Amino acid sequence: MTQSTPCPEGAPSGTAAEKRALVELTNVTKHFGSFQALSDINLTIPEGQVAIVIGPSGSGKSTLCRTINRLETIDDGGSIRIDGKELPEEGKALAQLRADVGMVFQSFNLFAHKSILENVTVGPIKVKGLKKAQATEEAMALLERVGVAQQAKKMPAELSGGQQQRVAIARALAMTPKVMLFDEPTSALDPEMVQEVLDVMVQLAQEGMTMVVVTHEMGFARQAGDRVIFMDEGFVLEDTDPESFFTRPQHERAKNFLGKIL
Ligand code: ADP
Ligand code: MG
Repeated sequence: MTQSTPCPEGAPSGTAAEKRALVELTNVTKHFGSFQALSDINLTIPEGQVAIVIGPSGSGKSTLCRTINRLETIDDGGSIRIDGKELPEEGKALAQLRADVGMVFQSFNLFAHKSILENVTVGPIKVKGLKKAQATEEAMALLERVGVAQQAKKMPAELSGGQQQRVAIARALAMTPKVMLFDEPTSALDPEMVQEVLDVMVQLAQEGMTMVVVTHEMGFARQAGDRVIFMDEGFVLEDTDPESFFTRPQHERAKNFLGKIL
């Protein structure tokens, strides 16, 4: 987590701007048929930054995350770089680069027929070529870190939603990603489980993980966020520090949106 100070372009803080750019989107546009889901997005996420993405339903937040991970292609003319490298189209290079980008979805997406432990070890074994013993050791340490080590032998359906989502975070971390994307990680959870997942995310932020977090959890945004990116109809309308965004939103649409969720 870096300290942010407001600056004219709404870009991240001065210190962050000098850091290595881990995610760079340049002129990123995405059409689904004739519908434009992302419109000329230009964003640079420096190492260690926690960027909160918020905006109304349908504004393009998930599409943005999915393009960063190449789950969606982008239109010709745009580019996405992860730690300086252009995202390849396919193949082994894509799998490698994707390993640099951990993703946690709203629906936990664990492999239903694998144990909790196997959910965390399968990626490192298959993609990183780790030996089973080492993958297991690392996975157990991660499960410990997110507080579910006791559940390692269970199947996903035996865990609560909050526990499953913490396993999903451990699974993503097992690939030693350079950046973590979270797409509304707590919005499918029962209210009493939201905080246990946010606590893990706050801890990650404090440890310096670079994070892009789609969330409407204002407490988290204020506590852990360095930057708020407000999207509407595929555009980035505001890009500033959390305090400025929540207290002085500039656009009518941002004011309306905040009026509805606060
Ligand atoms: P958000 O996550 O902000 O709610 P999304 O990124 O999911 O928004 O969607 C942005 C817009 O793109 C929506 O209008 C949605 O219907 C459209 N969209 C998303 N994915 C697809 C798809 N695979 N095919 C067609 N339209 C899509
Ligand atoms: Mg979404």
